[in-house]
Order: sequence, then structure tokens, then C-alpha cells
Amino acid sequence: MTTQDTGYAASALAAVPAAGDRRAMPMPARLTYYYGPMQCGKSTLALQIDHNHARQGRHGLLLTRYDRSGAPRISSRIGVGRQAVEVADVTDVRELVRGRWAVGQRVDYLIVDEAQFLTAAHVEQLADLVDCSHVDVYAFGLVTDFRGRLFPGSQRLFELADAVIAIQVEVLCWCGRPGLLNARVVDGRVTREGDTVVVADTAAAAAPSEDTAEVHYQVLCRHHHRTGDLGPHHPVPGQLTLD
Ligand SMILES: [Zn+2]
Repeated sequence: MTTQDTGYAASALAAVPAAGDRRAMPMPARLTYYYGPMQCGKSTLALQIDHNHARQGRHGLLLTRYDRSGAPRISSRIGVGRQAVEVADVTDVRELVRGRWAVGQRVDYLIVDEAQFLTAAHVEQLADLVDCSHVDVYAFGLVTDFRGRLFPGSQRLFELADAVIAIQVEVLCWCGRPGLLNARVVDGRVTREGDTVVVADTAAAAAPSEDTAEVHYQVLCRHHHRTGDLGPHHPVPGQLTLD
């Protein structure tokens, strides 16, 4: 609606109080969600953003989800890494940050990797930190699971983030088209069933404590995700591979 829509709009605008002037307020913080398929360089970008802020004297806290290493880190395929804090189901991210403040540690911003695995409640806690405590949040994650469905964390981030940014490092399907979807490949076949949360952002991630089936993830275009076609160089199930 524009103000040319006469009376109603004009009076509605006139009703906006002077509090709409943000000059008196501190610079607002932002919740930004960077998303892309596996192997698009999300963790590398996360660490780069952390580095850029740290160089300006800001203090960040790095968070991740479902790190099973026992020593949570955000690490990138190009070889850099930093220690991170694991966010559990029961973690209240606001309390986590306030706990740091309580011991005199500065937290100006959060870097959240594997943000697709956050619960909706976690994302709302992040929004609270942005709005009420002026903490900038940079979240990084996948959009869809191996079935091609939105992860709950990604859905809530799409709904609440100030900015949603596609990471522009293009990952290609074997056919050359843009890779959009993460396929779960079990014993050489694309599968669309099972628990979503065994997905890790690594091509070699095996499903923990499942059976002995070989599980990996492969980025495919929409067409080949739908048809389950892994390409001419992928061994046909049951066939011996010649190395
Ligand atoms: Zn394709």
C-alpha cells in the first residue's frame, strides 16, 4: 500500500509515534542466516566472519550442534578450525551467553554452525539475544534434509532472520547443474527414509550406531535427487568396483 491510497494509509502513517526515530537507539543487532548445500564452504565463511570481527576487537562465541567429537569445533575443509561450544537440546542460548557475561567475558556476536539442527526454541532464543541484548548472530546451515524437506532450524531461521543469504560458492551435481539437495546414499542407493538428524556436513559421515550399511551424502541437482541418479561413475549396487 502506498500513501496515494488516500485517507486510511495516511492516517495510519500519521499514527506512527516519534519512537520510530531510531537515531536515539544503539545500532541494532542483526540475525543473519547463511545457507547452502554441503561442501559450499559454510564453515569456512563462518570462520572468516569470526576472524573479521575479532580483528576489529569484537569478541565472539562459536556454537555448533551435534558435534560428536567430544571437542566441539567449527572446522573447514581448507584446514582452519576453532574451538566451539556444543548446543544441546536443553541448552538455552540466552543463559549460555549470560553465563559468559557473568564471569566478565565479552560476547558481542555469535557464530552458529550446523544451524539446521537447532530447534525452533533455540532460534527464538537467538532472536531474543539480537533484539534485547544487541548480540549479532551469524548462523550457517543446510536448508533441506536428504528427503528435500526443510530442517526445523532452517525453517525458523527463514521465518525470523533479518537477512537470509545464499552462499554463492556453487556446488555442482555430477551432471553440471547446480547442486541443491543433499542425498543420503545407503549402499549405493539414494534413500528418502530414516532419521534426519544423522546428517553431518561431511561427505563421509556415517550414520552412528546404525547397521553396517555404507552411508554417505552426495549433493545432487533437483532432477537427479528426484530420480535417484548418482551419475555414470557411481558404482551400480552389487557390482564390484575396479580401482
Ligand atoms: Zn544432476
